[in-house]
Amino acid sequence: MPYIEEEYDVCVVGAGHAGCEAALACARLGLDTILFTVSVESIALMPCNPNIGGSSKGHLVREIDALGGQMGINIDKTFIQSKMLNCSKGPAVHSLRAQADKSEYTRLMRKTLENTDHLTIRQAEVTELIVENEHIKGVKTFSGASYYSKAVVLCTGTYLKARCLYGDVVNHTGPNGLQSADYLSDSLKENGVELFRFKTGTPARVDKRSIDFSKMEEQKGDERVVPFSFTTDPEDVQIDQVSCWLTYTNLKTHEVIRENLDRSPLYSGMIEGTGPRYCPSIEDKVVKFADKERHQVFLEPEGLYTNEMYVGGMSSSLPEDVQYQMYRSVAGMEQVKIVRNAYAIEYDCINPRQLYPSLEFKKIRGLFSGGQFNGSSGYEEAAAQGLIAGINAAMFSLGKDPLILDRSTSYIGVLIDDLVTKENHEPYRMMTSRAEYRLLLRQDNADLRLSKIGYEVGLISQERYDWVVEKERLIEKEVERIQHVKIGANAAVQKILELHGSTPLKTGTTLAELIRRPELTYEMLKEIDSDRPDFPEDVIEQVNIQVKYDGYIKRQLKQVKEFKKLENKRLPEHFDYDQVKSLRIEAKQKLNLYQPVNLGQASRISGVSPADISVLLVYLEQMYRKNKE
Ligand SMILES: Cc1cc2nc3c(=O)[nH]c(=O)nc-3n(C[C@H](O)[C@H](O)[C@H](O)COP(=O)(O)OP(=O)(O)OC[C@H]3O[C@@H](n4cnc5c(N)ncnc54)[C@H](O)[C@@H]3O)c2cc1C
Repeated sequence: MPYIEEEYDVCVVGAGHAGCEAALACARLGLDTILFTVSVESIALMPCNPNIGGSSKGHLVREIDALGGQMGINIDKTFIQSKMLNCSKGPAVHSLRAQADKSEYTRLMRKTLENTDHLTIRQAEVTELIVENEHIKGVKTFSGASYYSKAVVLCTGTYLKARCLYGDVVNHTGPNGLQSADYLSDSLKENGVELFRFKTGTPARVDKRSIDFSKMEEQKGDERVVPFSFTTDPEDVQIDQVSCWLTYTNLKTHEVIRENLDRSPLYSGMIEGTGPRYCPSIEDKVVKFADKERHQVFLEPEGLYTNEMYVGGMSSSLPEDVQYQMYRSVAGMEQVKIVRNAYAIEYDCINPRQLYPSLEFKKIRGLFSGGQFNGSSGYEEAAAQGLIAGINAAMFSLGKDPLILDRSTSYIGVLIDDLVTKENHEPYRMMTSRAEYRLLLRQDNADLRLSKIGYEVGLISQERYDWVVEKERLIEKEVERIQHVKIGANAAVQKILELHGSTPLKTGTTLAELIRRPELTYEMLKEIDSDRPDFPEDVIEQVNIQVKYDGYIKRQLKQVKEFKKLENKRLPEHFDYDQVKSLRIEAKQKLNLYQPVNLGQASRISGVSPADISVLLVYLEQMYRKNKE
């Protein structure tokens, strides 16, 4: 039987959050790209929580946007509620989260993909890699068709050999009953790829007409909405918002769960996969935090055109009858009707230490990967990796150097470095505590940190880049001006200080000194600063933060300088560390396994000590001198 054979520059397997970003990046860089999915209707599907962003995840979305990705733009056009989280804390942890209309989110991403030049969408299951001499050549699909390409990006999410479980019910499907992908795992193993078996879970969806909201606390969105994308006009996101609702589990809920733990596939051993520590099921919460009398439950609308509500905080894989008892024990849900059961899903993914920080496989040139397939969890983590894997598949096809973001540039850099350098035996979720330079990596300055890179890669337009350069110039000029604005201890000044509960001045000072007072901001002092030009909101925000946190920012910049010293010390590829005699055995084993790209990455591998790094440093110096002779 004649099989279809086609040629492309890049094949992207998977149209989830990772695959969409990867395919758009390749096509927008002019590469002929084909995007595979088992179901076109599942493009950018949100099989779990109906929101984008949240603590540290909002940072990732802003960084994706600053590099020229799509997620930020897509959510700005399909959100139904938005909140800036952690506003009572410092700007490093301020993080945007928006409730999405799921079906609108999928519909708009599909429309964007379908109208992108150089991009072909194909509903077909990829079953096999085509590899020759450790170089990727393309993929094969279930029908036997072959698609040849210079690079391939795998973003298969939670579909590989997926099975969905609740109680003793097992469905060999992907999320939402979609077809699972059951063949590619075997082809990966045949090509020497090490796989993990991971698991995640989701709560039930319930009918909002069966909920008594009078027993819950309404959670409204922000009055003034801040957009995710730096390209979105803030006036375009000031919409009528829907509310979420807060209620709690109680002792009755916990009793129902404890009495039926033996029927949970999680506790009966039916589930083999490892689950995310930071996204625990309600069973896990009740067992692990047995002293807690209640856990928060958030009812979140899934969209404007549906009555389905997501029961946030109660993901589970308990049997159906127990799910009814459990959800109906919660205040306001006594009569609840379940539309979709809660369930757990198991799937194959890879051990990400097989990847370079470029997200290319060390053993198969031209093969890249992103998303849940790399052992992460979350739409935002997936999209961030998909973008980088897509950019680097494009760079590989164009014979250019890969884009590698280190930990001092971005949360994306932290995410990828943690995945490929640290031992991850459970789904990896981003958190602000993972970023050592988080005062520099704020969500508000992602454009200032990354737009230049997006522009150099070719995903950010000249016009957009020029605006960022102009914004930077305005900020620098204003921050400099403020240092020299003298403020006297006059009546007008004292009145403003009193208004904001700030200590009256005894002698003159500078505007910058006043802004550094915790209770004062650049905006509050505009009345006593007659020469101040008019600026857009985002410039005002930057000026305030850069002046207020000047000392801390300078300290972190010093730390980054130290960090870069090791980061810039490249290590040879495919190197046999057994040659470095004075290295400890454990270090030799780990370095041979991980093949770090630089001394900084080597220093973060568990089992490699600072003493080993000193040994390597001396060895590199000797090698360098020998090569010079
Ligand atoms: C039940 C469930 C619960 C979850 N719970 C959480 C949670 O609590 N917290 C959290 O952060 N995240 C959770 N997630 C994870 C979140 O959904 C994912 O992180 C995110 O969707 C990953 O995006 P992705 O692009 O990597 O993969 P997905 O969104 O899974 O997309 C994968 C894509 O690959 C395609 N595909 C796969 N294999 C093939 C093949 N062989 N051939 C062709 N196409 C293929 C599919 O059609 C799909 O388009 C959950 C997911 C599920 C399913």
